[in-house]
Amino acid sequence: MGDRERGMDFALTEEQHAIRAAVHDLCARFPDVYWRELDRKDEYPEGFVQELTEGGWLGCLIPEEYGGAGLGITEASIILEEINRSGGNAIAAHAQMYVMGTLLRHGSEAQKHRYLPEIARGALRLQAFAVTEPNAGSETTRIETMAVRTGDRYVVNGQKVFISRTQHSDLMLLLVRTTPYDQLSDKTRGLSVFLVELKRAVAAGQIVIQPLDVMLNHQTTQLFIEDLEVPAENLIGEEGMGFRYIIDGWNAERILIASEAIGDGRWFVDRAAAYASERVVFGRPIGANQGVQFPIAQAHARIEAADLMRYKAAWLFESGQRCGAEANMAKLLASQAGWEAANACLDAHGGYGFVREFDVERKFRETRLLMTAPISNNLVLAFLGQNVLGMPKSY
Ligand SMILES: Cc1cc2nc3c(=O)[nH]c(=O)nc-3n(C[C@H](O)[C@H](O)[C@H](O)COP(=O)(O)OP(=O)(O)OC[C@H]3O[C@@H](n4cnc5c(N)ncnc54)[C@H](O)[C@@H]3O)c2cc1C
Repeated sequence: MGDRERGMDFALTEEQHAIRAAVHDLCARFPDVYWRELDRKDEYPEGFVQELTEGGWLGCLIPEEYGGAGLGITEASIILEEINRSGGNAIAAHAQMYVMGTLLRHGSEAQKHRYLPEIARGALRLQAFAVTEPNAGSETTRIETMAVRTGDRYVVNGQKVFISRTQHSDLMLLLVRTTPYDQLSDKTRGLSVFLVELKRAVAAGQIVIQPLDVMLNHQTTQLFIEDLEVPAENLIGEEGMGFRYIIDGWNAERILIASEAIGDGRWFVDRAAAYASERVVFGRPIGANQGVQFPIAQAHARIEAADLMRYKAAWLFESGQRCGAEANMAKLLASQAGWEAANACLDAHGGYGFVREFDVERKFRETRLLMTAPISNNLVLAFLGQNVLGMPKSY
């Protein structure tokens, strides 16, 4: 029986190995000190994102007919994993990979031809995705930002919170309400997605961006939207179907976030194992003590297990099969494994784990986010409990 017929193959292809090696080489030009300095100054990794774009990595999921590399979710996940594994943080740019999917799947041919080639060659950035609102939080179907159609345009008013990279993006996907909540029999309808030319809107004073000071270098902001005019031709897909379109992107997002957490986890385990092998206290390397060694070994095992779920989810996704359960489990397990590795690494470093020069505390703050955003693990568990296991719903 050939390998294919047995139906299981855990090996990466030669192309996937080559992608990992190329991204590894690119990241090596942006060492720890680069990320540490940006973190200290709360600045965007402009140089890194530029190189990533020029290398074609950020356009990897854009089909070749629109100027992208036409790669799959597995390759995209390897790219993001490798960035985080190098000590950097893919969160500075990852949204472009999964946000673009909404345009690709649901946009018109005219929209795709207008924007995708420009995004692929780096002339335009689509790094921002505005869903969250202060009064709705995780309950997306309760958003209040309202778009009203007047002739050939929509006029939008409302507020968004935690919208990342808006100051470093040319375009933004914006989820808004187009039918009032109380007029809907199906509460998942009535929302619509627009592609907004962000810089123009900011210049016209129709969107005011206010940075939000958070615990990591994340470039996240609040948006105050007042009489924002969006041409009707920038509506993605059908009016009222926006929530469906957003959900369609969730599996890809979960798989990519899982890969970042796995990259973080591997960075923590490598650093912890190296430090624990070198640091001598009480006359022997601290890593010889089981109290130091076992948490690192345990974290390693959990990362490897999460990695299997990541590849399974990616494989299902690419072969067009249902992968909601696996994509959610990959995100859950990987973010938990990454966090466990972060704690093992911090503990192994003792006081030095808190010293900025060691980068452990920075990566610690960065990886913690993945348990909360873009989706909190509670809601992932609710999806598994309710949608996969059929238990009663909390919402
Ligand atoms: C740094 C950062 C960057 C972000 N970037 C973006 C972005 O670019 N675009 C964007 O749209 N959003 C972004 N977000 C928002 C993020 O997606 C939300 O914070 C997240 O979805 C949760 O919303 P909330 O913060 O309002 O929490 P809430 O909805 O208020 O929830 C608070 C807590 O209660 C729990 N909870 C709520 N309901 C239930 C339930 N039924 N069962 C169990 N637990 C429950 C939640 O899991 C959470 O732990 C970002 C957030 C952060 C912190």
